[in-house]
Amino acid sequence: MLDKASQPRKTMQVAGSIPIYHRYTLGVAGERFFKAMRDNQQLLASPCPKCADFLLPPKMYCERCFEETTDDWVVLEGPGYVRSFTVLHRDLDEEPLETPLIVAMVSWPEARGGLIHRLGGVEPDEVELGMAVEPVWSQERTGAMSDIDHFRPFAE
Ligand SMILES: [Zn+2]
Repeated sequence: MLDKASQPRKTMQVAGSIPIYHRYTLGVAGERFFKAMRDNQQLLASPCPKCADFLLPPKMYCERCFEETTDDWVVLEGPGYVRSFTVLHRDLDEEPLETPLIVAMVSWPEARGGLIHRLGGVEPDEVELGMAVEPVWSQERTGAMSDIDHFRPFAE
């Protein structure tokens, strides 16, 4: 029987770990996207010929019209722009963070969608919607979102 928790702060929590081994496959589009990040420090978007726009993250099919995307992927040049952001003051265990963490949705004018990532090099009260940002690439890249260490304000 399921009870709806009406007082979520009073629910019991049990700390522990479960040993789980899993392998997540990136898929055709994801593999190409992450390889470009790892090997060339590039962000790619895949084109939907029917919608006449580009998808970020790239996909093999357009989720809007179900058209298959074509091979003419583009490199997203120039800055991305903060479309939304939040400032985290506590970690997942609700412990206060020493330094607040800014998480932003970043998008590019030429692509539909965007990336959610950490924002650095800026104070939380300085972040604005629409501010131009660029990726700071990690020194060691493995073909994952962590290949971008964070985004920072765009330096022209
Ligand atoms: Zn489409």
